[in-house]
Amino acid sequence: MITSQAELKPKVKEFLEGDKELYINGEFVPAISGKKFEVFNPATEEVLAQVSEADKADVDKAVKAARTAFEEGEWPKLTAAERAHLIYKFADLIEQNREELAQLEALDNGKPFAVALEDDIDGTAEHFRYYAGWATKVLGQTVPISPDYLNYTRHEPVGVVGQIIPWNFPLSMASWKLGAALATGCTVVLKPAEQTPLSLLYAAKLFKEAGFPDGVVNLVPGFGETAGAAIVDHEDIDKLAFTGSTAVGKSIMRKAADSVKHVTLELGGKSPNIILEDADVEKAIEGAFEGIMYNHGQNCSAGSRVYVHRKHYDYVVEELAKRAEAVKLGNGLDSETDMGPLVSKEQFDRVLNYIKIGKEEGARLVAGGEKVFDKGYFVKPTVFADVNDDMTIAREEIFGPVVTVHPFDTTEEVVRRANDSIYGLAAGVWTENIKTGHQVAHRLKAGTVWINDYNQENPAAAFGGYKQSGIGREMGNYALDNYTEIKMVWVNLQ
Ligand code: ADP
Repeated sequence: MITSQAELKPKVKEFLEGDKELYINGEFVPAISGKKFEVFNPATEEVLAQVSEADKADVDKAVKAARTAFEEGEWPKLTAAERAHLIYKFADLIEQNREELAQLEALDNGKPFAVALEDDIDGTAEHFRYYAGWATKVLGQTVPISPDYLNYTRHEPVGVVGQIIPWNFPLSMASWKLGAALATGCTVVLKPAEQTPLSLLYAAKLFKEAGFPDGVVNLVPGFGETAGAAIVDHEDIDKLAFTGSTAVGKSIMRKAADSVKHVTLELGGKSPNIILEDADVEKAIEGAFEGIMYNHGQNCSAGSRVYVHRKHYDYVVEELAKRAEAVKLGNGLDSETDMGPLVSKEQFDRVLNYIKIGKEEGARLVAGGEKVFDKGYFVKPTVFADVNDDMTIAREEIFGPVVTVHPFDTTEEVVRRANDSIYGLAAGVWTENIKTGHQVAHRLKAGTVWINDYNQENPAAAFGGYKQSGIGREMGNYALDNYTEIKMVWVNLQ
């Protein structure tokens, strides 16, 4: 089944053979407990690497390093331009190692190498470059209060930041968190997901090579309930940034209240993608299919509920099914592969269970619906038609290649149904009438709305959720607010 896999690059082999340790205070160190955990290749189910496992004591050490780097030494003394140069240098190094990093993403996450290369790795470099540009543009205000006073604000870095990221875009999610934090002058303790720590650990040495002072970036691979919880609970962390499930996000928000930490959350979604009567149906079908199947549906903004005007419904269902059947599943390192495995056994079981529930609740399965191959966590792209809005598969986030397709009759009705969700991360609307497009976009309760497109993103474009999809926005200038405290200074001129 798995053929013509690309040869691993020498630096990837060397990395996989070497120790994969925590990165604290500019050094690679084993976990204090000496423990390691296994990381799997989801295409083969084989162990890919052993990684040092951070726990509370390691997080504490990392936070101390980050605190020292924030308060003393070189980092707080750098000019904004010098900080920018370090970030630019790091982006260049990411680019120089793009193939190595993309191979690691393909091995560890399962996604196709070509996708990892262009979207994850090149996207990461661009993201850092975008925020390098902001370092010199974090402006305060002068405030006209009285002739007798000079009043101004300083946007100061918030301090030591704890960042926890998921496994769907391992390096790229780290860049979303690190870019704005470093541009504003914070220091960071970051925990990658236990399923996919490798690309970021490979990149750790690039922070060193770029010249970041020790302790500015600290990486603590480990599990959520241990290393993650230690970050969340740590008294000396000023701000938490989390991307992951809504359930964990809620618990983080509750715990952050204990020490009144700033919190931003980027959580789940169940995003509607709406094909109106006057849509360019061929383009809409392509957009709806990619909208859900991109990254194997393991994408928080995945367009997992497709609403189709009744006039086009049967045709769209048929075409989505055709496309689903044509997808070539395989190892992410195989150049023929369109779609790789799901990231883990847990995710594989979870997605198959939702498919079972969909069938049991009476949705009509028109494509996929099963696993393939003896080894690896491969699930066929799956299309359910005639889905009632109340069915579990239409309400809960599946985070896999499973789409539900629903007919509708009026725009009024579809806007109401699209908004009837606890989530509000993203939405799409397909129409040839640009006025209708804007009108519907304005009424959708979602942090991002694409008109005649889906899944576009850019470091300059704010991203985040309404309702239970999150709090705050990443990317764009908005993300800078997450990492700054505002200080008002009063100067008595009399
Ligand atoms: P998923 O179910 O998609 O894996 P999670 O929300 O469980 O999503 O995981 C996202 C990130 O949050 C991972 O890095 C994970 O280790 C971390 N995490 C999970 N549980 C906790 C927790 N209780 N406290 C802090 N971090 C956690």
